[in-house]
Amino acid sequence: MSYVILDLEWNAAYSKRAGRFVNEIIEFGAVRLDDDLNITASFAALVKPKITRRLNGKVKQLTKISLDELKSGVSFLTAAKQFAEFLGHSTLMTWGTSDIHALIENFTVFTGDYHIPFITTYCDIQEYCERALDKFDEGNQMGLGACAELLGVTFSEDEQHRADADAILSQQCLKAVAKRFPLEDAILRADCEEFYERMTFKNHFITDIDDPDIDRAQLRFRCDKCGKPARRVKKWRMHNKNFSSEFYCKHCGRKFIGRVSFKKRYDGVKVNKRTLDIVPKKKQEEQQAEAPTP
Ligand SMILES: [Zn+2]
Repeated sequence: MSYVILDLEWNAAYSKRAGRFVNEIIEFGAVRLDDDLNITASFAALVKPKITRRLNGKVKQLTKISLDELKSGVSFLTAAKQFAEFLGHSTLMTWGTSDIHALIENFTVFTGDYHIPFITTYCDIQEYCERALDKFDEGNQMGLGACAELLGVTFSEDEQHRADADAILSQQCLKAVAKRFPLEDAILRADCEEFYERMTFKNHFITDIDDPDIDRAQLRFRCDKCGKPARRVKKWRMHNKNFSSEFYCKHCGRKFIGRVSFKKRYDGVKVNKRTLDIVPKKKQEEQQAEAPTP
């Protein structure tokens, strides 16, 4: 088994033909790994932009790539072809799925077909690291720098955000967690429509209490004091993507707020439940008075 970690850089470019902004890929950086996840080869290609000749400030600042540098690059399709040769039959890996989204977008714009021709198997290293570190369900996605820090992998801030440096840092994170979690389980088949459905699925919170994807049992709460079933005494209302209501426990007399959110993902619905104390109105006003005005 061999793996290739790909990291792309792109520039938000306004395409008149598409009538919208496109994340135009300007750099490919990749490393190939052997069975033990050690780097055996590297790949780099600069892409000469076609949609716009203007690099937006953020890209310039972050990547320190200049337009002059890019002028020596090749077309996107040439770079993609060179990369396909480098990849061979290895499993493609990226940190998070945004590089896959960028590839889908660039192939769509330049060929009219959204399929990524060189991909057969795929692993999202970000999700893999999050699962291995037990951080997958924490709402926020873990950044590459944060993951490296957590694992004690040292890196230079200056070198980051160039494709090759990010690919190497991803490899170090991958290697650091690989012993904790089976890597085979994180590899997906990518030569099928299901892969594209999964990649383009937009995670979202369910906001309709009657949505059939809501497991009704999750709308029941137990008293957080005595553990007995509590009764809902108010209507459900939305509070920051959560359903929220007041509950009453007739066994111990406790009143509390129950909050639950349902996040719809490709793989299913992630439920998040918690209970809160009811803050008396007067105290609430005091807290609001203390809060700094924005
Ligand atoms: Zn109780």
